Amino acid sequence: MISPDELVRSDPETVISRLQELLGEDAVLTSPEALLPYETDAMPIHRRRPMCVILPPSRATLMAAVTLLHETQTPWTARGAGSGLSGGALAENNGVLISLARLREILSSDPRARRVEVEPGVVNQILNQELAGERLQFAPDPSSQLVATIGGNIAENAGGPHTLKHGVTVQHFLGCRLVLSDATELTIGGSEETMGGYDLLGLIAGSEGTLGLVTSATLRLIPLPESTRTFMAVFPDTEVAGNAVAALLGAGVVPSALEMIDAEVLDALESAFSIGFPKPAGAFLVGEVDGLKEEVAEEMLLVTCTLSDAGASEVRAANSETERVNLWRARKQAFGALGRVAPNYISHDVVIPRSVMPAMLRDISEIGKQHGLRIANIFHAGDGNLHPAILFDAADPAQAASAHQAGDAIVRRALDVGGVLTGEHGIGLSKRKNMAWAFSEEELALLDRLRRIFDPWNLSNPGKLIPAGVNVEEATSDVSAEGAPAESSRRPKRDLSTGEASLLSAIQDAYAERKQLIPVGGGTLRITPLCGRSPLPMRKLNRILAFEPADFAVTVESGVTLAEANDLLVDHGQQLSWEAPDPQRATLGGIVSAGYWSSQACRFGHPKYSLLGFRGISGGGEIIQFGATVVKNVSGYDLAKLIVGACGTLAVTTRLTLRTYPLARCGEMIEVIGNVKTLLHLADRLAATPYPWSRLDLNLNDNGAVLHVGFQGNQALIDRLRQEFEAVFRQVSAATEHGPLPLEMSRSTGKDFGRLERGLTDRLCWFDSALILKLVVGAEKTIPLVSQLLELLEANQALSKVRLQVHPTIGLVRVAIDPGFDDAVLRRLILEIAEQVRLTGGYRALDRAPGNPWWGWDGWGASRTLQDRMQRIGLVFDPRSVLPAQTPEAQSGAMR
Ligand SMILES: Cc1cc2nc3c(=O)[nH]c(=O)nc-3n(C[C@H](O)[C@H](O)[C@H](O)COP(=O)(O)OP(=O)(O)OC[C@H]3O[C@@H](n4cnc5c(N)ncnc54)[C@H](O)[C@@H]3O)c2cc1C
Repeated sequence: MISPDELVRSDPETVISRLQELLGEDAVLTSPEALLPYETDAMPIHRRRPMCVILPPSRATLMAAVTLLHETQTPWTARGAGSGLSGGALAENNGVLISLARLREILSSDPRARRVEVEPGVVNQILNQELAGERLQFAPDPSSQLVATIGGNIAENAGGPHTLKHGVTVQHFLGCRLVLSDATELTIGGSEETMGGYDLLGLIAGSEGTLGLVTSATLRLIPLPESTRTFMAVFPDTEVAGNAVAALLGAGVVPSALEMIDAEVLDALESAFSIGFPKPAGAFLVGEVDGLKEEVAEEMLLVTCTLSDAGASEVRAANSETERVNLWRARKQAFGALGRVAPNYISHDVVIPRSVMPAMLRDISEIGKQHGLRIANIFHAGDGNLHPAILFDAADPAQAASAHQAGDAIVRRALDVGGVLTGEHGIGLSKRKNMAWAFSEEELALLDRLRRIFDPWNLSNPGKLIPAGVNVEEATSDVSAEGAPAESSRRPKRDLSTGEASLLSAIQDAYAERKQLIPVGGGTLRITPLCGRSPLPMRKLNRILAFEPADFAVTVESGVTLAEANDLLVDHGQQLSWEAPDPQRATLGGIVSAGYWSSQACRFGHPKYSLLGFRGISGGGEIIQFGATVVKNVSGYDLAKLIVGACGTLAVTTRLTLRTYPLARCGEMIEVIGNVKTLLHLADRLAATPYPWSRLDLNLNDNGAVLHVGFQGNQALIDRLRQEFEAVFRQVSAATEHGPLPLEMSRSTGKDFGRLERGLTDRLCWFDSALILKLVVGAEKTIPLVSQLLELLEANQALSKVRLQVHPTIGLVRVAIDPGFDDAVLRRLILEIAEQVRLTGGYRALDRAPGNPWWGWDGWGASRTLQDRMQRIGLVFDPRSVLPAQTPEAQSGAMR
């Protein structure tokens, strides 16, 4: 690789003329009038004139342009629709803006697999219009979806009103091609639920284009809901409304949307559009429930009762599309109304724990009074994501300065109450100066080192997300134009417990003495041999640190076992989405580190999405903390995603904040025992339906097969799901030459059902085996892969020593191999399994390999082409290999 010092920046005239030669003059905008719309994004307080704007017409020309910009050392910034709200899509340092407006093709679509591959300039709403014919959708729906592009959604990890139930962009982002600033193109992820190795997709989502440019993206689709009901409720004030939101979530209803506006916005709406709200109205809530019609009908009853009991003066549901549009009108026109009642406003974006929302709203109002300003609140109430809009007149410099100071005060208050800098708008230029309030100097330096792995030249959207100079609060010249100068630095405090302090000194000593350590939790998912490393016992960190039921999150020390955490939660009607083969022994730190996932992913999605925050000690002996008790967070790179499944190679985790979920009100499980082939067919058919099975597992061994199908929710939903299951069952059963299948059913409800589910997981997952292999493929390829594996096992006469656990909705297969195999046979067998997975297009890894030779397998299955980057990520956290390395080569010292 050419060193960054060997290249020099060319002058702008040369760059422009070479770009014109390459792309043609019409694809290079240079005149001041043509550049004007590109000088700002949707947050016009920032203004940067780019050197020029290029509009590459194809991926190939885009790559050629990036190569040229690298040769000439010209910084560049990707630009989607420019609807960002933090100045992210502006070119710093006289750089080039790369508009993706001409890359708008849907490259491929696979409705059965529920995946689509698109170019980055595809507009969110247009994609969803195309998908509607297949009754599918790309769930993230930023309010800007009419113009916002998929590239911009990924770069900002966009959310939207409906992400409360369906999740933000990263939860629907399966793979991409990423072009780096030296024009290297990486292919990351693809069709599988997770990628092998460190979660680079989690790192890219929300990275604001600072790591590279997404040239294509593979997205997960979900079925359009069968039924949707919209409701509104009016409250005397935001405090009563906030408590009503907590009561609703506590009742186990997860609305697809839950949006609130306060009295200030209601007044603005009334004077701008005469909407006719009932008086007096201090807060207005609009929300939606969606799903199967039986589920929605019952949830609407619960919504009406809960909100009325919690103090709503009126609760109304829309009975037609027109009424639905009218109910949403207030929320959708809110920002427009503010524009009419004040010359200017700054819309902020912070996320706080839900339980402190009423207090935070009081504080915001107080901050407004202190600065002599009106502040209106429009927010995603279910997510705790607030958008306080500070109204001011930019023509009055004193008022403008006050507005910026009030904004800073709100951000600080949000951090003080345990929140984060931003949940949707990103850091961009707007919040660079605030980064030092949330991150320590070491953490910011770590973010910068991570960025340099992808862009050592600092060409890809420079000056965004990471403050210039880690010791400097804000180094740009335009602070006064864009906001009041930041107050003196106030670094976050990381108070260490005694246990953490002793771990820190053990790791720092090991670093100084070049010793090697290995954290040891419950020892249930052992994949790294000790190999002379000194064990760090983690079980001593065994305190539950914080649990506020209304926040739906728990903070624990990493040595707490899964059973200990769930025992506490069950008493409050909640549970974790994490699982483990032996929950009594498995520590949460160990489970997160192994990235263990299983049946519950069917209901909750991969558990990595529920790691909201963590604290750890890197192999370099630095304290690292990321995240908080909040469900949305785009403040800096998502280090939490990197930690999941990293097998302890990056940091020793000491604390975790995990999202919790309401226990299902009712549940039912069906067990089907029968012929292997027929059950494979049945599982495949069930997995292809749009129904939300809470569990769909198939367990196979030489005695036969057993299929478990779970239904959870309200009784009406369960009844409907049972009918849908029986319809598929009857068809498969009628077609089989082996006659009707025996059907065994068990039913349980409420808390007991949660226990039954977990009990089943424990019983099925725990194999006292020498080796557990994990195979991950696109969900639709699961059953074909299992059929091939069964043939392979039979040919090797290995069926009696092997058990398979198959999760066809999530593309996961576990192969448990009992001890007592002849080494040569075992070696041949697992190489053949590896080949089968390679041909299917997934990845393979280890879940458990106590003391075994690995024969080329590793704990995480990173693709060879990405191992170089992953190795460098490892070095950023652990420069002296104090912590375990993951690949066999690395373990033997060859890689790190
Ligand atoms: C009225 C309004 C409502 C909004 N509502 C929401 C909301 O509900 N939720 C929400 O999350 N956001 C919301 N936003 C913010 C914004 O629309 C989203 O963040 C959106 O995803 C940005 O998409 P874009 O195409 O406009 O990106 P741009 O603004 O063009 O770019 C945003 C960032 O992404 C980078 N980028 C763009 N394309 C690529 C690419 N292909 N590869 C790498 N980096 C790239 C840019 O460099 C920049 O840093 C709203 C904005 C407005 C104006």
